Amino acid sequence: MPAKVYLGLGSNLNSPARQIRTALKAIAKLPGTQLMSYAPWYQSIAIGPGSQPRYINTVVAIETVLKPRPLLRTLQQIELRQGRKRIVHWGPRTLDIDILLYAKQTLHTRQLTIPHPRLNERSFVLYPLADIAPNLDLPDGTPLAKLLANCPPKGIVRLSTGGSGGRTG
Ligand code: ADP
Ligand code: MG
Repeated sequence: MPAKVYLGLGSNLNSPARQIRTALKAIAKLPGTQLMSYAPWYQSIAIGPGSQPRYINTVVAIETVLKPRPLLRTLQQIELRQGRKRIVHWGPRTLDIDILLYAKQTLHTRQLTIPHPRLNERSFVLYPLADIAPNLDLPDGTPLAKLLANCPPKGIVRLSTGGSGGRTG
């Protein structure tokens, strides 16, 4: 049985819109994986050191037979292929792909924490996630709507409309 997984994508370097489009195509081609729906794109103000260009962020839902760790490894290969360099923690990046939720699983290892540890404080993740999954509950039963209520959409602007079914607009 494939698992329903939500991924968060972000880019603030080297034509962010192109980076996100390329990443969506790569995700849709992953083995045993189907792109189910994708959220609108958001522009967000960078958190992290110094002054940085704005981000484009979005969220996609996939169904995949890949288990969490192999999925993380394949997503990191996509990041590297698109020129991701890990120089400064939270520094500017061509592409960041995070596993937000993996079905109803929780996981806490050195490599991988699911749900994503900073999910509940990041408006640029919560709002696009709610656009495609408004009635979602976290594995501990917390409704996504409750997280949204505690996280105002500050510093984010919705850019586009999203959709469903494998298109990568
Ligand atoms: P961030 O996404 O927090 O800005 P990075 O993309 O550089 O930072 O990720 C740092 C490390 O976070 C990765 O090497 C990965 O092992 C770890 N990590 C832990 N949980 C997750 C998750 N749910 N999704 C993606 N990476 C994760
Ligand atoms: Mg990351």
